[in-house]
Amino acid sequence: MHVPLVVLGGGPGGYAAAFLAADLGMEVAIVDRDERLGGTCLLRGCIPSKALLHVGRVLAETRELEDWGVSFPAPAIHLDALRARKDKVIATLTGGLATLARRRNVKIVQGEARFTGSGSLEVKTATGSEQVSFDHCILASGSRPARIPAFDIGSPRVMDSTGALELRDVPESLLVVGGGYIGLEMGTVYAELGSKVSVVELTDTLLPGADRDLVKPLQQRLEKLFADILMRTKVIRLEDLGSAVRVHFEGSAGPFTREFSRVLMAVGRRPNSDGLGLETTGVVVDAKGFVGVDDRQRTADPRILAIGDVCGEPMLAHRASHQGKVAVESLHGEPAVFAPRCIPAVVFTDPEIAWAGLTEHEAAAADRPVEISRYPWAASGRAHALGRTDGLTKLLVDPETEAVLGVGIVGPGAGELIAEGALAIEMGCVARDLMETIHPHPTLGETVAFSAENFFGLATEIYRPRAEAAAR
Ligand code: FAD
Ligand code: NAD
Repeated sequence: MHVPLVVLGGGPGGYAAAFLAADLGMEVAIVDRDERLGGTCLLRGCIPSKALLHVGRVLAETRELEDWGVSFPAPAIHLDALRARKDKVIATLTGGLATLARRRNVKIVQGEARFTGSGSLEVKTATGSEQVSFDHCILASGSRPARIPAFDIGSPRVMDSTGALELRDVPESLLVVGGGYIGLEMGTVYAELGSKVSVVELTDTLLPGADRDLVKPLQQRLEKLFADILMRTKVIRLEDLGSAVRVHFEGSAGPFTREFSRVLMAVGRRPNSDGLGLETTGVVVDAKGFVGVDDRQRTADPRILAIGDVCGEPMLAHRASHQGKVAVESLHGEPAVFAPRCIPAVVFTDPEIAWAGLTEHEAAAADRPVEISRYPWAASGRAHALGRTDGLTKLLVDPETEAVLGVGIVGPGAGELIAEGALAIEMGCVARDLMETIHPHPTLGETVAFSAENFFGLATEIYRPRAEAAAR
């Protein structure tokens, strides 16, 4: 079979690229080993984890209502029904993608693909193997959980994020190895469902890449939700005892052991660039396994472009989709480049953490002068009405031009609120633009405008002595 454009991988990068290509009149096929479209994000990532986090959040809210004089009996959790409801979300969305692909005449080839040269793939299907030749290929093969060989003890009690999302049971105790995105999101899910969750993190902070001001309120809440958080601690060895896993740790106070019903490994992800036959093409892969691309998503092989997790960090679905669109537009002859001013990031914990653009530690590392305005949610009427004054909205502003360089938010709904920050950065807004845009009251969104007011020392709900405010 010959297809002018083949997209290898049907995740948020691959299907966004293929659908746009079809919309622009190209003949396109998606090859994926999975029988359903959606990739990691839809089938075993973003969507199932957010469905379960929604349940966890509602459970937490029922407890918080006690403070308002409303109490509920302890919840009964019917795991089979919960699992089925989560799977229904996935089935609905993946079914929608299949319909969209059919309507657009996008061919779907199910099978394991491998390059056999710059212009061809061999696809191992259920019935044999198929040769697919192409004029161009967009490689969107994504990533998989990083594995630490010493911890591969073949125990059903040790799982990765895919296993955790299957929700086989609610273990009495769960050790989460890695205090990053997955560790904290899935740790929150299991803790809300009733597991005693411990987190072990190698470095001296949770979410090492995130702003400290944002992590602090999250950590304070997680210290109450989780059984414990072990920082600067290493897992040395895992032992399957049959009924539990014995974990050997090395901490600042020396070695110790503890037993857990289950262990979740969440120590990062690796690009799916190996085993693809890329050595038969001109594609260049770096030491970490990421495929090298230019700002038009072109690899070193003129027929092959690459997008999403396989070509670098941050490994986020919205980055993959945007790169997919740039790749197609560049094949279509448009002057498209992937050069965003910011790629927003959200950790969907409670509180959520979200940021866009420059962070304080990036500014410090680059020796870049910034002015920082922090607006504590304790000054927001809406936050009080929600009983969530633990939030913070933070702006990083260029001291000379007053351009908004970075926005960070922690608090419930931060993941929704950050879109305004991303737009402000992308549009080159100055702090005054945010201040003078009328935000509806009472909303958490107002805190973005209020933090801009605070930058000028003029926030209604925050008193700053005149001398300090006049410094601006
Ligand atoms: P993928 O989605 O990984 O898709 C790659 C596809 O390629 C897969 O379908 C795979 O089957 C196919 N494939 C690979 N190799 C072959 C081959 N040889 N032959 C045939 N097919 C092949 N990101 C967010 O932005 N927000 C979130 O909330 C979020 N939550 C996450 C939660 C979890 C638990 C995990 C694991 C990830 C999460 N992510 C989140 C990350 C997000 O899932 C990825 O960034 C995104 O899926 C990357 O998209 P992609 O198209 O590059 O690759
Ligand atoms: P991560 O990089 O976010 O976090 C991994 C953590 O594990 C780090 O804090 C690291 O210091 C720690 N670590 C590494 N080795 C360790 C060890 N031996 N012992 C203890 N700690 C160790 O990786 P992740 O949580 O696995 O997630 C992978 C990627 O998937 C993320 O980086 C992100 O790109 C994506 N993701 C995004 C979302 C979202 O957007 N909300 C959610 C989940 C996953």
